Amino acid sequence: LAGVGREAGWRVECCDLTAEFCRAYCSPPAANRLCRAISGNDYAQVDALYFDWEDQFQSISGGFEHALDFRLLSGYLLRRFRDLPLARVVNELKDGTIHSPFLRQHVVPRLAASRPEIVGVTIASEHQVVPAIEVLQLVREVLPESYVLLGGNVVTRLRDSTAFAVLRSLADGVVVFQGELAFQTVLDYISEMGVKRARQELPGVMGHESIPVESWPTPSFDGLDLRGYVGISALPYVSTRGCYWGRCSFCAIPMGWSQMGYAGSAPAEFVVKQLVRMGEETGVPRFKFVDEAMPPAKARRLGRLLSGVGSIEWEAYARLEPAWEEPTLLHEAAAGGLRKLYFGLEQAPSTDRLVLNKNDRGNITRIMRNCREAGVKVHAFCMVGYPGTGRADALATASFLVDHADVIDTADLVGFRLERGKAVPGTRPNPTREVDWRVSVPFVPTEMGVLCCEEVQELEGECQELLWERAPRLLHPLYRVVSPWGPDGLPAAMGSTVHSSQDVYATDR
Ligand code: SF4
Repeated sequence: LAGVGREAGWRVECCDLTAEFCRAYCSPPAANRLCRAISGNDYAQVDALYFDWEDQFQSISGGFEHALDFRLLSGYLLRRFRDLPLARVVNELKDGTIHSPFLRQHVVPRLAASRPEIVGVTIASEHQVVPAIEVLQLVREVLPESYVLLGGNVVTRLRDSTAFAVLRSLADGVVVFQGELAFQTVLDYISEMGVKRARQELPGVMGHESIPVESWPTPSFDGLDLRGYVGISALPYVSTRGCYWGRCSFCAIPMGWSQMGYAGSAPAEFVVKQLVRMGEETGVPRFKFVDEAMPPAKARRLGRLLSGVGSIEWEAYARLEPAWEEPTLLHEAAAGGLRKLYFGLEQAPSTDRLVLNKNDRGNITRIMRNCREAGVKVHAFCMVGYPGTGRADALATASFLVDHADVIDTADLVGFRLERGKAVPGTRPNPTREVDWRVSVPFVPTEMGVLCCEEVQELEGECQELLWERAPRLLHPLYRVVSPWGPDGLPAAMGSTVHSSQDVYATDR
């Protein structure tokens, strides 16, 4: 959206309040110490850096009880609000949270000084819902004349819940699905008519399920301190909206783009042009494609185009398609900067994948071996406790990861969750325990052998424990913010330059 504003001639400033909170109160692990510990395989030191950082957050109490409920991956737990409906959260927030002193001392003065005409807030994960409401309340108080726009994947996924009306009441406009055209409309309207008329005349809910690729602007990161993130900086980038398969019954992520779960893919030539521009503007030549699934043919094309650009490196999520077994594809993509692929393995190959409805038939061990030969690292996403799978499948999955730690760089292993709005055979939602702003809902088993929520949670803990004991690198949150970029996790590309977009096309021809 910052890209939309910039192309329309507005001055736009992005703020990452999570990052700003961290920098205001803590000293994150320095990149050189982290890289040294990782390249020396010194996990005691990586742990020390991690827990020292986590301890710093836990020691900020500010008189609030949340301090000890802090985890680096999810932030402060804000236990008091966890099981309340959103309408009650809004009322209870008047007593403040551990974020309040930060917002009042660091964010409010800046907002008051710059007096933006529009403030946009994105909620991209469930953990951000309560903090975002506090921000929205504060913006209303400090900037009564600004137009407030709210959007993000979580907002879209809550659109049929009672929480949505509460979200609407906190903003002038709410965007569901994709926001470029809605944002453009708001900008145009305010330019011509002012905020007051925009409030009266623009619809309260906007958004589109399909936006032509030509209208996808080059992302802008203006305002963000890109060097201040932990690990080696990489820019997030999306080149495909939704998943070209989109039918796994457990997965709701692509539904944030459109009800169909798919909303188009930018051609590789278009993508390369944008990557080069972003690299030139930010000095960061590393990209994390956050597309749900990069088609193998697109990865090959990107590799061919980018091999002429020089120093751009990238990583991407992918489905376990047989095409990834082909060594030449991986070599071509690697020559063009591909450093890591993230596959949805879900379960060890001993589990019958039909139950997952994933329709992916690639041979994971062959793919992983070929990736290693091509110099492409592998991440495996795994999920235990899925209906139709049991404890033995879960333990086999954890063991598979440990046994293949020579070809698997990192992994995630989580318990099955029933996503809001999804129907998974063998389960039904349990409305008596539902919280209206959560993106996953409690469920009860409807078939013999299906594990209940508590059993899934227990199994998840048991499998994660096994991984921590036997292959800690796989799960380590600090290792993975370094590992994709360069051999042995060292920042090979740091300080390198990016060629101009003209070079890209000259080379391609
Ligand atoms: S392939 Fe991946 S992104 Fe696509 S629907 Fe399945 S789990 Fe979701």
